[in-house]
Amino acid sequence: MHIGMIGLGAMGMHMARNLHRGGALAGLWNRTAEKAAALAAELDVQAFASPAELARRCDIIVICVSADADLRAVVTALLPGVQRGALLIDCSTVSANSAREMQALLTRHGADFLDCPVSGGVEGARLATLAIMAGGKPGAFERAVPTLNLLGRTITHFGDCGAGQAAKATNQIMCAGIIQVVAEAMAFAKAEGLPLDALIETLGKGAGSSWYFVNRAPFMAQQSYPAGFRVRLHDKDLRICRDMAAQKGATLPAVESTLALYEKLIAQGFGDEDISAVFRLTSSLFANSRAH
Ligand code: NAP
Repeated sequence: MHIGMIGLGAMGMHMARNLHRGGALAGLWNRTAEKAAALAAELDVQAFASPAELARRCDIIVICVSADADLRAVVTALLPGVQRGALLIDCSTVSANSAREMQALLTRHGADFLDCPVSGGVEGARLATLAIMAGGKPGAFERAVPTLNLLGRTITHFGDCGAGQAAKATNQIMCAGIIQVVAEAMAFAKAEGLPLDALIETLGKGAGSSWYFVNRAPFMAQQSYPAGFRVRLHDKDLRICRDMAAQKGATLPAVESTLALYEKLIAQGFGDEDISAVFRLTSSLFANSRAH
């Protein structure tokens, strides 16, 4: 098994390290070549000159890039080198339609494609504890399992190509509602003058807790939002959710209200901050509050 990794962003960088730990990473490619060169030197693997060059040398290719157009660009670039029988595992979050389009392209070249979006944040990528939602042919999934085991802990095959992305979209809808409510609750707690660290410690064990409360309320308490999951990326995901729901004639209220908040954050120049930056907006709800 020769694995190649394409896309060394906040997620892909850690995923590449975990593939290397499993002993199967042949090499890397990243659009910004300096990142690939630095990681290749660290891991003592090859930094390939192009996606096609990587595809020529690897029978399993893991991709983690930003959005639909980026996945399309990378797949188009690797096609000239892709081997018959190769397996492409896409961990980017894109639409189910893009996944099906990529599968059709790869099938024409005698290769397989699986949509395998992930959840669990940068921490999950680093610790190899990601939840992985797969869609594609059962045989391709079976073949991918040893690779996916190096990246995550909960790995589920949801059905045909696109089903992994549909499961991920479901997750992103939940994240939209949860981050908004966590930011609203933290703004309330701050205005009440509560000790925020003790509050997070206690409520983190309560019924209203969530991954976002435990891991991102501390960012809100410190009013610092280092890039974990960028506003811009969740905005992209929620637009996918909006389109998928619209195809079934539905509008999703939590998705719409979170998109409205993200529009403001992006306009104010905070699109590359973690989504916990929603606290910037909910804090201002208490801007006129007076001490009792
Ligand atoms: P990121 O830090 O912004 O990194 C994006 C990566 O994609 C970079 O390596 C970038 O290359 C590459 N890329 C973007 N456009 C490209 C193009 N047109 N051609 C080639 N390469 C391109 O993003 P991330 O946080 O790692 O997220 C990656 C994917 O995982 C996204 O779909 C995201 O929604 C999903 N995801 C993220 C999280 C999270 O917590 N961050 C959690 C779950 C899922 P450069 O280095 O050249 O910019």
